[in-house]
Order: sequence, then structure tokens, then C-alpha cells
Amino acid sequence: MLIGRSETMGLEGKVALITGASRGIGRAVAIRLGLQGAFVYINYAQNEAAALETLRVIREGGSEGKICRFDVSDFKETQCAIKDMAGEKGHVDILVNNAGISVVGLLPRMEEKDWDRVIDTNLKGAFNCCRAVSRYMIKRRSGRIVNLTSVVAEAGVAGQVGYAASKAGIIGLTKSLALELASRNICVNAVSPGLIETDMTAHLIKEHQKSIIHRIPLARFGKPEDVAGVVAFLVSEDAGYITGQVIRVNGGLYI
Ligand code: NAP
Repeated sequence: MLIGRSETMGLEGKVALITGASRGIGRAVAIRLGLQGAFVYINYAQNEAAALETLRVIREGGSEGKICRFDVSDFKETQCAIKDMAGEKGHVDILVNNAGISVVGLLPRMEEKDWDRVIDTNLKGAFNCCRAVSRYMIKRRSGRIVNLTSVVAEAGVAGQVGYAASKAGIIGLTKSLALELASRNICVNAVSPGLIETDMTAHLIKEHQKSIIHRIPLARFGKPEDVAGVVAFLVSEDAGYITGQVIRVNGGLYI
């Protein structure tokens, strides 16, 4: 459902970078923050048409943004892209480290390149973005960083050792960075979704719908908007005393 801008303002004048905002959870977050008045940089890796669709919805809601392609796992590319953003807008107030991939397979057969790819995108990608953005936030003594972790990091799951390790790393990164940046009035938190209906989980949900759903107390899969609402809260004025936390959005799947 499209929410009219007038109903949910609060981020006017803020500049937000959402990584992996062409699809899924990142798109829902970008649209939500855009509708609340933020200028949104919509990062993506390959899918320009999908990123443009995110931008179209944000504009339809009366806000502005810009698509920006860069590979979060590439240190230099990320530093340059974020430097350009800060140059254009003067500041970056909100960073949502959402870009991610999952690689499924049992460890004894896992290829080294698959391990590297998932760690480089999910964990190093967050480092790369935090590294670049934090200097602008420190200068302004204000900022919000939200990192996407996963129920898999907290509960573990067979066949996702690399993914779980990358997302568990995000929790450690979040807590430590929260301590580093607290004195500069920068809040750093993580959101830990359960099973959310996106391209990442489409195959799993299609094949194991019945066996999974009975393990979810709220008896449904999550929607990207369920996660976007929590991210929107964490970047709002109301969440100014929350830092270093992991907020679960999982329908009770892991308590
Ligand atoms: P998704 O639908 O597969 O979308 C992934 C997004 O990440 C796309 O926008 C993709 O861009 C982007 N991306 C991938 N690699 C990138 C890279 N190297 N550089 C920049 N962008 C990159 O995923 P999702 O389900 O929305 O998941 C979003 C986040 O939530 C991930 O971190 C995921 O681990 C986490 N999460 C998801 C679930 C779930 O159930 N879906 C549960 C827990 C946690 P392109 O479109 O250009 O490929």
C-alpha cells in the first residue's frame, strides 16, 4: 500500500544511502524513507531497471533520489561513490547496509570462491560503506546506521555456514561500531529479519512453504514492508536513545 507523504513525514533534509535498494527489503526501505521525506541514494549492483523502478515510486510519492551503481564488496569503488554523494549533497545522514547475497550448500563441498563472495558482499560490504560514510557523520556529529543481519546468524541453519558467518559478523560489527561512534551522536543498530518474501527466499518458500510456515508463530512469511517499518523507526528521532541493538523482525521464528 502506498502511504501518502503527508501521513509520514519526518526525514526532510536528510540524505539516506540504501545499499541493494533495487529489489526486496532494500527497495521497501528506500521507498519508505523516501516517502518520509529523505533524499534517497538507491544503490544496486546490476539491475538498473529495478533501481529505476524504486526511484519512480519515490518520485511518485513526492520525494527525490538518485540511483547509484557500485559493488559494495569493492573497497575503492565504494569509497569513490560515497565521496561523490557527500560532494553532491554535502552530507550523508543515514546508511542502511542491506545489500546481500546468500549461497546455499553444505560446508564440505563449499567452494572457496563462494565463501569469499558471500563474506565480501555481506560483511566486507558493510565495512566498506560504514568506513566511507562514518567520516561525514562524525564531522556533523550526527547519523544513523542500520545493518541487515538475519535469523540465520542467531539460530544457525544447515547449508548456510558462509551466510550465517557473514551475518553473525554484522552483529559484532554493529555492537563495536555503536561503541566507537556513540560519543559522536551516531546510532548503529542491526535488524534481524526472519523469512521475508523476496527474490532471495522465493525458491525456498516455494519448495518448503508448508514445513516452514508451521514453525513461524505468526503463521506467515514477512513482507519487505515489515522490515522497512522497523528501519524507518530506527532512523527516526524517536529512536535517538537506541544504539548497539539487534532488533528481530521474524514473526516469532526465533525468540
Ligand atoms: P534480494 O531480494 O536478493 O535483493 C538483494 C539486493 O542486494 C539487490 O538490490 C541487489 O542488487 C543487491 N546487491 C547484491 N549484491 C550486491 C553488491 N555486491 N553490491 C551492491 N548491491 C548488491 O535480497 P533481500 O531478500 O531483499 O535481502 C536484503 C538483505 O536482507 C540482505 O542483506 C539479506 O541477507 C537480508 N535478509 C533477508 C532475509 C529474507 O528472508 N529475504 C532474511 C534475513 C536477512 P541487484 O538488483 O542489482 O542485483
